[in-house]
Amino acid sequence: MKPLTEKYGISGAIISAVDLLRGIGVYAGLEAVRVPGATGYIDTDYLGKARKALEILKDRDFVFVHVEAPDEMGHEGNAEGKIRSIEEFDEKVVGTVLDGLRGTEPFRVMVLSDHPTPISLKTHVNDPSPFVVLSSEGDNLRNGKSFSEKVAQKSGILVLPGFMLMEHFLGDWRGVIGKENR
Ligand SMILES: [Zn+2]
Repeated sequence: MKPLTEKYGISGAIISAVDLLRGIGVYAGLEAVRVPGATGYIDTDYLGKARKALEILKDRDFVFVHVEAPDEMGHEGNAEGKIRSIEEFDEKVVGTVLDGLRGTEPFRVMVLSDHPTPISLKTHVNDPSPFVVLSSEGDNLRNGKSFSEKVAQKSGILVLPGFMLMEHFLGDWRGVIGKENR
């Protein structure tokens, strides 16, 4: 595979406790950075991951932050744990990164899951993953005020094949979102 770093002339890193993700990151040309306390589980150091991401962005263009906990809770059928891990991710990872990026414009942030792991099935399903983008340049992609599968479905935006999402995110983003979705 052609590394993202080569394709887009960017530098970058991946933060994940999961070897599979770290390996894909290395193939993509990213440095696989370790965060002490990153466990791949619900007790992971969410804040530590976000702080490390901000540190990386000081001298690099791109960072991929992966949190495995909501998927693990899905496999366990643990609804309470899944809600808690998503809340922790929202507050401590997304919140910390967005706070830290203020004053460092321009930037673009995308939040998404790699796949759904419904509590009712305890395994991965092939449904589309919702994604949301915040851009300091105003070319945001959002539909309503909340972020969920239902809200995403209503947007009518579907990126196929899925790998094109990253191509668009790093490349010509405006083409995908269309004026009406900004
Ligand atoms: Zn899984």
